[in-house]
Amino acid sequence: QQPQIRLQSVSKHWGATTAVKDISFDIQPGQFVILLGPSGCGKSTTLRMIAGLEEASGGEIHMGERDVTRLPPGDRGLSMVFQSYALFPHLSVADNIVFGLRSRKVAKAEQRERLAKVAELVDLTDYLNRKPAQLSGGQRQRVALARAIISEHPICLMDEPLSNLDARLRSDMRREIKALQSRLNMTVVYVTHDQVEAMSMGDRVILMQQGHIVQDGTPDELYNQP
Ligand code: ADP
Ligand code: ADP
Repeated sequence: QQPQIRLQSVSKHWGATTAVKDISFDIQPGQFVILLGPSGCGKSTTLRMIAGLEEASGGEIHMGERDVTRLPPGDRGLSMVFQSYALFPHLSVADNIVFGLRSRKVAKAEQRERLAKVAELVDLTDYLNRKPAQLSGGQRQRVALARAIISEHPICLMDEPLSNLDARLRSDMRREIKALQSRLNMTVVYVTHDQVEAMSMGDRVILMQQGHIVQDGTPDELYNQP
């Protein structure tokens, strides 16, 4: 099977700082892959290069048969969920969720249909007319998730999406994200420094340290190795 995402010898430098050093990996369709490691090890930079939000200094990034190394984020066929939610405060929940469809000029009727479907998936049907400020942190993050999945892109990139939530909510949201991912058969690349998230959500954990990959395997393999 052709990998959905392939990184070949990818690096990122800023002046004398090397954030990511010559890393390579393949991700198969439908995999839930965790990028794990301490702060500053290069996880976000790696994710942002996959997204096209940072340009790689060296190497190639492929998605399926396409070389996307020089493509802008909007042409890569993926969606993103950030730690900060990144919602528009002056727009309703509904308008936040369909924002991307609207700018892609998806027909109104189809927007409404998809909105109803995803709102139910993330349990926000009764909150569509509220503004983000009128929601709890968990609900805001579910708006961000809804906005990502409504695009129906096969790939979803998540950068520490649960770090702003309290511990109890985090464990609920871990289950919700995992359930959505398998229900929609999405390929997820998920950045975290939290080993519990890595263990409980990942099909595969890529452990990074100082810009290198130091381990790559299932959570079991990762924790049962000396
Ligand atoms: P992580 O996500 O693992 O916390 P990052 O990918 O954010 O790590 O950062 C990796 C390294 O690159 C760090 O040393 C960080 O300070 C540096 N870095 C990240 N973004 C920039 C930038 N825009 N300019 C310069 N250095 C950066
Ligand atoms: P987070 O860890 O939540 O991703 P950071 O504080 O690491 O946030 O980074 C916030 C922004 O600052 C990012 O766009 C990152 O690329 C940039 N950044 C991080 N480290 C540096 C740095 N040493 N110099 C310049 N920009 C940086």
